[in-house]
Amino acid sequence: MTTPLLEITDLQKKFPIKKSWLQPQSYVHAVDGVSLTVREGETVGIVGESGCGKSTFGRCVLRLLEPTGGEVKFQGENYLKLPRRAMHSIRRNMQMVFQNPYDTLNPKLSISRILAEPLIAHGIPRDQHRQMMEEIIEIVGLTPAHLARYPHEFSGGQRQRIGIARALMLKPKLIVADEPVSALDVSIQSQILNLLTELQEKFSLSYLFISHDLSVVEHISDRVAVMYLGEIVELADKNSLFADPKHPYTQALLSSVLSTDPDASRERIRLTGELPSPANPPKGCKFHTRCHACMEICKTEKPALKKLEDGTMTACHLY
Ligand code: SF4
Repeated sequence: MTTPLLEITDLQKKFPIKKSWLQPQSYVHAVDGVSLTVREGETVGIVGESGCGKSTFGRCVLRLLEPTGGEVKFQGENYLKLPRRAMHSIRRNMQMVFQNPYDTLNPKLSISRILAEPLIAHGIPRDQHRQMMEEIIEIVGLTPAHLARYPHEFSGGQRQRIGIARALMLKPKLIVADEPVSALDVSIQSQILNLLTELQEKFSLSYLFISHDLSVVEHISDRVAVMYLGEIVELADKNSLFADPKHPYTQALLSSVLSTDPDASRERIRLTGELPSPANPPKGCKFHTRCHACMEICKTEKPALKKLEDGTMTACHLY
């Protein structure tokens, strides 16, 4: 078996909560022991409600936030052990696309300056910049004439194309895309998703695709990981997960999505209550306070993530 491009083992991120000096230090477990692999050319979707830890997970994978535990191997090398300055060469292969490109594009810089920044940071000779920028800007569906313009002159969809162009400048192998289409109109969303799919084929890219939107994740992913309170509760290939979700949380998420198929007869499962605080998660199964299938054992014993016969991984006492 070939080594996965990205291999994440027991990744953890804890944020300390300041309390009075009389009380013991406590923590928010934003990412709580996530293990996952991403193969070359594969898209792994990460879904879950807002606050489930998926964006923190994406940032920890790129070490934009420093994880508090676990391993992340890129092509077999655990780069969490490297000093931060040694991350420079690894970052060339791993880039991020953000939710709102306007927040991450400096309004004072022209598009050519924005696209040149990663080239300068990685020591690409200046005489190659113009040609590389023109090549990438055309690949993302804009023109070389756009290089002289400024971010405010573009629509939301065009800005996201520029954000994608910036991520592509160094020809990375992996892109972590954090809600890349959720700030866009539905008609523009499909254009950007199609662009990401075309780029994947052209450059053999791998994506870690983070979204709260199940229909978007269904469109683009090969496999899907469902997160709840910092943990993966189900991991399966896309077709199995959407046809036959195993975990009650996945079932509830899917049943809340309106189907475009008039013959589809999915039973509606109401997800009641708020997401509990990750600073004080429920004991046993973290989902038990909202689960329609909760049993006594669920309140005290945490279910392990285990592999079922059809290859789905799920963390639930029902299996
Ligand atoms: Fe529900 Fe129990 Fe399964 Fe948790 S372990 S999802 S509470 S049935």
